[in-house]
Amino acid sequence: MTKKNDFKIGQCKLCLKDDTTLVDSHIIPDFVFRWLKKNSFNRYLRTSIVPNKRAQGGITEKLLCEKCDNVTFGGELEAPFADTIFNPILLKQKDSEPFIYDKVLLRFCVSVLWRVLIFGIEDAKKTKGLTVNLDTIILGMEDLANQWREYLVDNQSSWTGLNVYFLRFGGAGLDPRDIGPGMHTYSQLTIDMGSFVDPYMWEPKIYAKLGPFVTFIPITDYYLPLWEKEGISSLNENGGLLSFKGRKLPEHFKLFMQQRSDSSSGMFQRMSDIQKSKILKIKNENLIEYEQSDEYLLAIKDIQEINLHDQS
Ligand SMILES: [Zn+2]
Repeated sequence: MTKKNDFKIGQCKLCLKDDTTLVDSHIIPDFVFRWLKKNSFNRYLRTSIVPNKRAQGGITEKLLCEKCDNVTFGGELEAPFADTIFNPILLKQKDSEPFIYDKVLLRFCVSVLWRVLIFGIEDAKKTKGLTVNLDTIILGMEDLANQWREYLVDNQSSWTGLNVYFLRFGGAGLDPRDIGPGMHTYSQLTIDMGSFVDPYMWEPKIYAKLGPFVTFIPITDYYLPLWEKEGISSLNENGGLLSFKGRKLPEHFKLFMQQRSDSSSGMFQRMSDIQKSKILKIKNENLIEYEQSDEYLLAIKDIQEINLHDQS
């Protein structure tokens, strides 16, 4: 969704149209933040991206022209995903597994991850000069972004990239307790994203977390057999059936999720005092509602599990 009166003139990163009005587009789609806002007393805490600034309504960047933002992504991918998967599952209308998906899902996932990747490239360029290999890494990321862009601008094209994964936590799906103690809040509420391209850490991947849904594309095929071994398949571009019942996450991915969870719970510490006191004020003013919220219940489960784990 585009905010009015906030634009600049430049080249659209998707259709490559020059001298066009670039609108403020969300990296993680807006409806995810709207869902979080409804379900969380403190959406800052549950967002693992940029502590104080901009995280309230999601991170936006002036990347796209109005048509690409509102029609190509918004109307053709985000709205159908929100209407047929995200909202029905989270409103528990469609909690039972497995669920059927159509060709929109893979395109939607790529569209989000492409934005995450573009954001990661911009970020890497700002830190240029710190690491010797960064130039090569940036070139590789730009190559990847361009391949994904070509797929996204042509809705007749086939996906030629590596596996696209889409996972769902909680419900009848992957159990947060299977990841480790204290993973309820991160696995079910947190919004997170990042380009993890360091080949010495975890599985290099472009990653986005939309509440209880995770989507990512590995950028090396080295770990793919580990997913296969657990019976977790990647998305089929024409659609299919998805089920996580009885599935287990590969060990390397559990570790990755735990590290992301740790860094998101460290968020509160990194916030400004003003931000912290605002959050505490909201909670205190709405104490009864807060104690009945999912956010509170998940936090309690996390604390109990961590305590149990520490005692054993
Ligand atoms: Zn465009």
